[in-house]
Amino acid sequence: MYNTKAYSAGSATSPLASSTIARRDTNEHDVQIEILYCGICHSDLHMVRNEWGGTVYPIVPGHEIVGRVTKVGAAVTKYKVGDLAAVGCMVDSDHTCPECKAGLEQFCPNMTLTFNSPDKQLGGMTYGGYSDSIVVDESFVLRLPPNLDLAGAAPLLCAGITTYSPMRHWDVTEGKKVGVVGLGGLGHMGVKFAHAFGAHVVVFTTSPGKKDDAHRLGADEVVISRNTDEMAGHAGSFDFILDTVAADHDISAYISLLRRDGNITLVGAPEKPLAVSAFSLILGRRSLSGSPIGGIAETQEMLDFCGTHNITADVEVIPIQKANEAYERLLKSDVKYRFSIDMASLKAE
Ligand code: NAP
Ligand code: ZN
Repeated sequence: MYNTKAYSAGSATSPLASSTIARRDTNEHDVQIEILYCGICHSDLHMVRNEWGGTVYPIVPGHEIVGRVTKVGAAVTKYKVGDLAAVGCMVDSDHTCPECKAGLEQFCPNMTLTFNSPDKQLGGMTYGGYSDSIVVDESFVLRLPPNLDLAGAAPLLCAGITTYSPMRHWDVTEGKKVGVVGLGGLGHMGVKFAHAFGAHVVVFTTSPGKKDDAHRLGADEVVISRNTDEMAGHAGSFDFILDTVAADHDISAYISLLRRDGNITLVGAPEKPLAVSAFSLILGRRSLSGSPIGGIAETQEMLDFCGTHNITADVEVIPIQKANEAYERLLKSDVKYRFSIDMASLKAE
């Protein structure tokens, strides 16, 4: 074991603060990574404040990790010291269940999340990327295309894959009309991917001030979702809608915008249940589903796609000391469009 610096919260109501955590020594199949940037996902905030239940304190959030390999175990074949590497929301799974065999580790019943999961090797809970370094089994380490800006690449590890995966699953392709609800971290990646896949992209936002940005990011149309006339103009027309909203909202209003057999997928995970009008689904045989992150192979596919198409997140780079302020800004939908922590700032603590 060795000690490394981190930012952690001691309770649902305490701010993140500097601390020291233990990491395991590098085992045979492990890669040790010096963390260079870590994105701030709204899930970090939900978890730190125990909005979903089940948070164990102290918690070190962070699952959008990019960095440089500093050590490898004797059996590691994919990485060497000095390589760029990335880690997303998962750090382990059982490798043997049908989900793992299908490359869908995100559904493995024994999957280990990057933070706030029981740590099978050290005991206690896993600690995330708001820290100097992390040790991860090489099968859960991703390769970064060399052309991508590192600060902007970090958010691909969660916001990227969480929007890429359902769009692939629901066949977002050229000629499809696709809606993205909420222009935050996930939403702006959803817009970039839907545009890159050739779809006609419509952004639904509560923030009129984001209209120009939405077009720049790849939207063909922008709807201010509080304007019922604008909403009604799109009734029954969407093939697919991706809902990324982190708070309570009227999802039935979006279901009614789907065409026959259209699908709306929730990736946003509000604290409280959403009310669904049965008729909005019945009339039109529409479907409502959800989607969690993506498997390791698909995450690599997404990163490679981003390398080829030069796609990264639009980030505001902040020092770790501004993490608490960033959380408050997330709650006000005031992020353009992902905070990425420059982890060099942790060395000053
Ligand atoms: P974010 O950056 O805070 O973006 C959320 C966006 O939702 C806001 O920017 C805002 O966009 C819109 N919004 C916020 N409050 C709203 C309200 N009351 N009514 C309507 N719209 C509202 O958050 P994020 O990091 O993208 O995460 C979004 C959600 O996805 C979170 O719940 C997070 O936990 C979840 N998530 C799920 C997965 C998964 O695997 N399924 C993975 C990562 C994150 P506008 O200003 O454009 O309205
Ligand atoms: Zn996330």
